[in-house]
Amino acid sequence: MFLQKLELQGFKSFANKTVLDFPGGIAAVVGPNGSGKSNIADAIRWLLGEREARNLRGGKNDDLIFAGTEKKARMGMATASLYFDNSSGFFPTEFKEVVISRRIDRDGDSKFFLNQSEMRMKDIVDFFAKAKLGARGLNMIGQGESDLILKSTPLERRELIEELLGLKEYLLKKNAASRELKNTFFNLEKARAQLGEIEPHLRSLRRQVSRWTKRDSLAEELRQIEDSYYSGRVRMITESLRSFDPEIEKLDKEIDRLKNEQKVLEQEFRKIEVSEPKAKKELEALRNKRRELFNKRMASSGQPAQRSKASAPAENDLKSLLKEIRELAEAALSSGLEEDPKAVLKKIVSLIEDIENAAAAEAMPVAQAVDGKLEEFNRLMDELDEEEKKHQAELDSFNKVFRESLRQVEAKKDEIEELDDQKQQLIFQKDKALFQKSELENQLRSISRKFEDFVSAAADIRLDERTAEARMMRLRAELSSMGDVDEAIVKEAEATEERHAFLSNQIADLEKASADLKTLLKDLDFKIRNEFNAALHKINGELQSFVKLMFGGGRAELKLERIRETDAAGTIGEVGSSQAEETEEIRPGIEIDVVLPKKKIKGLEVLSGGERSLLSIAILFALISISPPPFLVLDEVDAALDERNARRFGDLLKNYAKETQFVIVTHNRATMEAADVLYGVTMGDDGVSRVVSLKLS
Ligand code: ATP
Repeated sequence: MFLQKLELQGFKSFANKTVLDFPGGIAAVVGPNGSGKSNIADAIRWLLGEREARNLRGGKNDDLIFAGTEKKARMGMATASLYFDNSSGFFPTEFKEVVISRRIDRDGDSKFFLNQSEMRMKDIVDFFAKAKLGARGLNMIGQGESDLILKSTPLERRELIEELLGLKEYLLKKNAASRELKNTFFNLEKARAQLGEIEPHLRSLRRQVSRWTKRDSLAEELRQIEDSYYSGRVRMITESLRSFDPEIEKLDKEIDRLKNEQKVLEQEFRKIEVSEPKAKKELEALRNKRRELFNKRMASSGQPAQRSKASAPAENDLKSLLKEIRELAEAALSSGLEEDPKAVLKKIVSLIEDIENAAAAEAMPVAQAVDGKLEEFNRLMDELDEEEKKHQAELDSFNKVFRESLRQVEAKKDEIEELDDQKQQLIFQKDKALFQKSELENQLRSISRKFEDFVSAAADIRLDERTAEARMMRLRAELSSMGDVDEAIVKEAEATEERHAFLSNQIADLEKASADLKTLLKDLDFKIRNEFNAALHKINGELQSFVKLMFGGGRAELKLERIRETDAAGTIGEVGSSQAEETEEIRPGIEIDVVLPKKKIKGLEVLSGGERSLLSIAILFALISISPPPFLVLDEVDAALDERNARRFGDLLKNYAKETQFVIVTHNRATMEAADVLYGVTMGDDGVSRVVSLKLS
């Protein structure tokens, strides 16, 4: 027993509180037309979550509430409750008894309760759906719905079976996967298109950038060779420049020292120079004048007679000669002569004075006076010669010393000059090195480098100068032909590479997702198909025996519709290809093939009312046989059956009553006989339905 009881109050014609207990098995609801039997089925449907008043045989929600009659006032609210025994755990909840209640008032306020807790309608519908129960399912066949399956479209039939098999969950998954696959495909196409758009540009950017990448390696090589080459030269110049100054300084010091020595030598020389014995000229002149005087007097000495009559011009000549001698002697005296010659000179002067004085005092010619003193004069004059000789000897020794001193001064000068030459040579070399340095600086400036950079640079590469120069020239030419690195292009290339990588990854991800979804779809499709086909096979097996039972022969089959190959192309596997994207999946519906015994004509259209009912019942039971519902409400599905067939129907119910609880509204005696409990529904003249229980067993 699953369905325990139904409580109604204010629902349709059930104004008073009414309780229907369902003891299990088959409960038949009987009573006259219009007594309210179907209202009981409506109540159950309403409790299972029916939203549409139409499906409850009402125009609007208000129609569900007791409308009132002449004898009974209308009611403001309708309530109904359905009690389930959940001790088997059929519903996934810990409650042993599950009570679903629904209430509606005339303000349109509608409420659902699960064991007295208010619930949203959606949650109640889900709650039943999980247990494969619902207001529209096969567990509720309302009045006039007995041939529901025959009236349905092929696809509706298929969906009915899918729902029955619990495949709906997989179908929803499949639809979701299908939608996702479409999205994935769309995104994939988009990403591929974007990738295709950037690729040519990226190729050109890569070409440019790779040229510059080579440029970097060439520039690096050039730099290394430059480092090596210039650091060698810079070091050479720097070292040689460093060596000049100390040497020049050393020479300067040496020159200074020599100049000091020169100064000392010059001072000495000057001292020697001033010590030169003087009056040499005067003495020489004096000697010449003496010779003149002597010659003059010796020439006349052989003629003493003439002494007294000396001619006047000769007298004057002698006088002036004496005067000259005297002046020379006096001049020699005033020059720095030694004392000895001076004494002689003084004597000469005094002798000349004596001569002049004697001539004047004795009034005799000068010649006479001279002659008187001539001997003495000659003697003095010989003495003077002696003195001169002595003087000459002194002069000679002076000259020797003088020359030596002069030689020393000159030698020193030579020495200084020699060093100075050396110094000039060094200065010249230094200037040359400085010039080389400035040349090198110019060269370095032209390649945007600085002399200082190389002072401590390491020379890693050992190339001979000529090879290095040739290589540098080639590298520079190559670099300049490449042009400068355009930072904007490098940046753009980086950004484009990033975008490319992003899109490639995205494509890979999407391809993977697409493959996964295809696999999922294939799996789901396989599962759905397999389960569906297996179920269909089983249903047809059951259906065959029910048809035999109900019609005493014949054949009926639920068949998948035939669909054209081309239409079916998109059903499995190909989803994801562009062609499949445009093709909606075509799902074949279910057709019903029926051949009745002794009848040639096939097809549902030609069946009689009773035949339709019989076939419907056969199909219904075949369907529920693969997944029997806990209860089934059938409202007058046996209405068109004759007594024999009603009996067959009753047998069928009895067979199934072990697994499924039946609530069946019927006017059929045979069906009533099959029931375990009968509820009689009556309606008095107050227009209110009442239930009388007529328990049979
Ligand atoms: P039949 O055997 O002919 O199928 P039935 O026993 O199934 O009849 P129902 O269709 O269940 O009868 O009941 C219809 C009766 O319920 C009618 O008399 C109708 O007036 C009454 N009814 C329906 N809705 C209301 C309502 N809101 N208030 C009062 N009475 C109502």
